[in-house]
Amino acid sequence: MSRLILVLGDQLTDGVAALKAADKSSDVVVMAEVAEEGSYVPHHPKKIVLILAAMRKFATRLREEGWTVAYSELDDTENSQSIPGELLRRAEQHGASEVIATRPGEYRLIAALEGCPLKVTLLEDDRFIASHKDFEDWAEGRKALRMEYFYREMRRKTGLLMEGDKPAGDKWNYDHDNRKPAPDEVAFSGPMQFAPDDMVEEVLDLVESRFGNHFGDVRPFWFATDQEQARRALAHFVTYALPRFGDFQDAMLADNRFLYHALVSPYINIGLLDPLEVCQAVEQAWKDGHAPINAAEGFIRQIIGWREYVRGIYFLEGPDYPRRNGLNHQRKLPDFYWGAETRMRCVSKAVEQTGAEAYAHHIQRLMVTGNFALLAGLDPAEVSEWYLAVYADAFEWVEAPNVVGMSLFADGGVIASKPYVSSGAYINRMSDYCKGCHYKVSVKTGDGACPFNLLYWHFLDRHRDRFSNNARMGNMYRTWDRMDAMRRETVLREADEFLDRMSAGEIV
Ligand SMILES: Cc1cc2nc3c(=O)[nH]c(=O)nc-3n(C[C@H](O)[C@H](O)[C@H](O)COP(=O)(O)OP(=O)(O)OC[C@H]3O[C@@H](n4cnc5c(N)ncnc54)[C@H](O)[C@@H]3O)c2cc1C
Ligand code: SF4
Repeated sequence: MSRLILVLGDQLTDGVAALKAADKSSDVVVMAEVAEEGSYVPHHPKKIVLILAAMRKFATRLREEGWTVAYSELDDTENSQSIPGELLRRAEQHGASEVIATRPGEYRLIAALEGCPLKVTLLEDDRFIASHKDFEDWAEGRKALRMEYFYREMRRKTGLLMEGDKPAGDKWNYDHDNRKPAPDEVAFSGPMQFAPDDMVEEVLDLVESRFGNHFGDVRPFWFATDQEQARRALAHFVTYALPRFGDFQDAMLADNRFLYHALVSPYINIGLLDPLEVCQAVEQAWKDGHAPINAAEGFIRQIIGWREYVRGIYFLEGPDYPRRNGLNHQRKLPDFYWGAETRMRCVSKAVEQTGAEAYAHHIQRLMVTGNFALLAGLDPAEVSEWYLAVYADAFEWVEAPNVVGMSLFADGGVIASKPYVSSGAYINRMSDYCKGCHYKVSVKTGDGACPFNLLYWHFLDRHRDRFSNNARMGNMYRTWDRMDAMRRETVLREADEFLDRMSAGEIV
């Protein structure tokens, strides 16, 4: 009897566990475009196009390789529009009662598959360097789960940038060299772009008609949608951007959306690129003398360090993790996250490019939209839903730890040892946003004061009980305490007034 082999939209890899366990001659591969997945949060239309187009191309390739594929298009009249529904329908059609699936990267879907009235076997997703067991073993008995130590284990495990049992260049981490402010000119013309072929055009029309009301522009669409294109995009990055990736990793420019970033996360996360293959290409560039060690190490750390680590945390911490609210922040997400006007140029530019590209780089996500959300006390569940919806690379296993943990400190410090908060000074140092902003970054109170300056102290003051004993935050509290009492009162009052105006829907 044939079995159903489920391949989800972020599992588009030949070597995904369910396909490896399948028998091409008798099993049926099930792939389904379902409305439920496209709309449980209002995903950016570009993200939906990327996934549907890549799914269709992957299904075509599987068929060419001799697989039987039962593929449900979104507009198929019999489509039940849910994954369990499609499994039941295909089981009946093919006389199958057993499903082999690769464990999804989201508790919601895992529960849906476990609740499906068929025999479902979930295989571990082994496209990662650390298995769940590896991460649990590493975490066992540790007081703090800091990424840096986990990362070193991953370096040893993969052998990447290792010279025997020592790190290349005798240093594990070159982050110190990777904090240069925004350059005047960027020598990289941006990620490789692909003109939509007929299949992508068809999906673009479909998504435009079904999800055109979601936040974000569907066109122009230029993402890679198959493995071959994604590999070309990677090679383009390694050749033209990697050498300067490290230097300007944290920099931001209003009129340059990509700087020296790779834009490979959407491809890695849906299976078009293998994380190890990406890191090996980068390591090779360093070995060939094409890229300096700070660039290669900085990049590899993001993938075998941060990417693996956040996945480990998501599965270790359990299904309640994405809804944690350790600082009890309740303020509603303001409309300017969805494109309404704001006078804060940094936020406005980060949101504008998010709408246009379904992309913002790490520091824009962390130190602009994330920093503001934390300082203003926005509800982490709403903020997390926003991040999950608007970025092409957002899947809960990677989004939630980055947002709830790293950015909002809502997990109570599992990921970060202190909250990532900054006043306007950091944004000014690392970007050109402040030039031309309605607010003045040098103004601390009164007319034109930068809201980040006001809210920074407001945050520290309202969470004094939680953070004043944190050794890494002592200086901040000492500076605050040294300020004269009247000035402190003014800062807090103006911050409150700003928040009230924002929550009342005024343009701020
Ligand atoms: C608030 C917030 C939300 C985020 N949400 C997501 C998300 O939903 N999906 C996602 O893939 N990344 C997320 N990240 C991490 C990071 O911002 C993106 O991976 C990165 O911006 C992707 O762009 P790039 O390919 O140009 O990355 P580059 O800057 O070129 O980095 C190289 C690669 O490293 C990996 N990487 C880097 N940082 C991280 C990280 N913190 N966690 C996981 N992988 C990382 C990515 O695969 C990325 O492609 C988030 C970060 C923050 C601060
Ligand atoms: S002045 Fe403040 S609000 Fe304006 S861009 Fe700079 S940091 Fe952002």
